Parts: sequence; structure tokens; C-alpha cells
Amino acid sequence: MQDEIHNWTGGAFVHSHNRIEDELEVQKSQGDVDESVADLLYRYTDGSMTLGAISIYLENIFGKTIPLTDTQHPSYILHPEYDDLPDSAKVEFYNPQAIDATIDLLSKCMLERMRVVRRAKQLSHVLTGAEVDILSPKGRLSLTDEALSQLDYVTCSFHSSLWKATGNSDPSKAVCLDTYNHALTNPNVDTLSHPTINIPLDVKMSMTPQDWNELFQLMSEKQVAFEVNLDSTNLAFNNGRNLDRALLLNALNHGVPIVIGFDFHYPHDWGCYPSPRLVTKDKAEKLFHEHLENGSIDRLLARVLGNIYALKQLGLQPTDILNNGQGQFVNWLRKRNQL
Ligand SMILES: [Zn+2]
Ligand SMILES: [Zn+2]
Repeated sequence: MQDEIHNWTGGAFVHSHNRIEDELEVQKSQGDVDESVADLLYRYTDGSMTLGAISIYLENIFGKTIPLTDTQHPSYILHPEYDDLPDSAKVEFYNPQAIDATIDLLSKCMLERMRVVRRAKQLSHVLTGAEVDILSPKGRLSLTDEALSQLDYVTCSFHSSLWKATGNSDPSKAVCLDTYNHALTNPNVDTLSHPTINIPLDVKMSMTPQDWNELFQLMSEKQVAFEVNLDSTNLAFNNGRNLDRALLLNALNHGVPIVIGFDFHYPHDWGCYPSPRLVTKDKAEKLFHEHLENGSIDRLLARVLGNIYALKQLGLQPTDILNNGQGQFVNWLRKRNQL
């Protein structure tokens, strides 16, 4: 199972939400972290495994070091319980008077996070990045272009709660596709993440794969990737109306690069128990062995394989996937970052 999964995704573990407590503790005590934001960096609490922990966990599964992209949400630093805030409280940070200062702060913190990761010698296989939010129909993003241009890998997403916090109403189909078009025109954006998951259900239901032709043309020209999001997409489900399956084939026909993103947050999302709130690198090896013995690892791998079989059924091969096991991913990024 591991070899098959490595063939399709071993080039990079793309899209994971990780923590940096291991590195922060050490670097803070050495005085390396910018003191004005050091405490805020502890608020990146989406996900439970530190970058060191997930690296050890993956190394145990595949028997080798797997490159990974660090794509945390910028907005978590705004409040200690950011994820649990109602939209009405998030508005406070994103109203027209506050939004510029908010984006500046998010950018300052994300760049410091990037420096923390880059300073850690044992994390040299980690590509720094972020999952930025699309905040307006004109494609405004939650980090400044200056910050985005410094990160190795930027994926952008539509998340309805932030979209609404910024004062927008539910987008129509035309607004949705137009917004994606604006966001992906930003040369710093490498990938569109979970393209159909957070858009309103009625918009999704009314979409045909052909509605995306213009957007796919742009993505193909700019070599922006389309993400198959394993956390939220079930490609195996096929009642003849699985939009994600049809979109994937249309993207491929247009020559759009395809990336498999895990959107990994917590082991329990993947059927793996126990799933502690925080897993630091010293706990990772033990957790892996518990998961191996109680069948959790088999469940995790089976879920990934289910989607891989669906990709095969659709006629795809590992070489159609950017982050397959042959180093294509890093080459693609290198080319993009030179643009
Ligand atoms: Zn997302
Ligand atoms: Zn995500």
C-alpha cells in the first residue's frame, strides 16, 4: 500500500496544517524570534502535529523523508480561539477600517513563522507556505503580495466564513468563478485548494465542468495547480454527477497541473485514534506505533488508496500528478518562483 501511495503522492505531502511549538520553544529561548510577534505565533493552533512530529510520522510510514508544504491559515493569530469565533466577531478584524492593518499583521506573523521554519535545520525538507483566504470578488488575499512572494508554496481557498466576515454575501456562480479568476491571476498563487467545497451548495449543484473552461485556460497558461483535496473530496463516489470527478478530467484536458492535497489537520479526521490535541516531535514515534498496532494506519492508507483507485479508474497515472514520487513538484515550484 505504501509503495502505491508513494508513487502518487510521495514527491511532497501537500497541504497540511501543522504547529511549530518544537521550534518556537528553542528559538525563543535563544532570542531568535521577533519579540513583537513571538507570542502570537503560538496561536497557529489549527492541526495537532508539529512539523517535526508529522515528519517523523510520515518517515515511519514510507521509510524515507517526505518533503512537505507548511500551509497554515494566516488568520488564526488574530485571537486565541479564532476558529470558534462567530462570523460577527470576525467582522471586527475585516471591516473596511481594520482590514489593511489586519492583513499587515497576518503577513508579519506568517513571515516570522517562515523564518522559524527556515532556521530549523531538521526541517530542511519543509517548504514554507500558507493557505490564504480569498476575501473579495476582486481576489484580495489575506496576506500581502510582498509576503506571498517570499513563501515557497501558496495555496488559496474560498472559505465562506471569512468571505462573509469581510462583508460579502453568498457568491453566485458567475461571481464565484470570476473571483477565482482574479485570485489566480496573482503570480504568487501556486494552487487553488478544495475548489468546490466551501462555495454555496446551490452554486455547486448548478455548475457544469464546462463552466470552468475559461478559468482552466488561465490556470493552464499560468501553470497554476488544481487541487484534489483528499480531506473533503470523495472521488470514488460516482452517480454520474460527481462534479469533482468531471472537473478533474476537464482540468487535465486543459493542461492544468494537478496536485493531490491532504489538507491534514488531525489524525482523527483520518480515522486514527488516539488523536491528542498537541503532538510534539518527541511523541510522534510512539503515536505512530500505537496507530500501527490498532489498525489506524491501515484505515488512513485505505482512505488515500480509495481515491487513488478512483483516479486510476478515471484514466490518470502517477505522472499526471505534480506531487508524484519523482520530484516533479519541487521542479514545478522552482520554475514558478523564478517567474
Ligand atoms: Zn481550506
Ligand atoms: Zn486547509
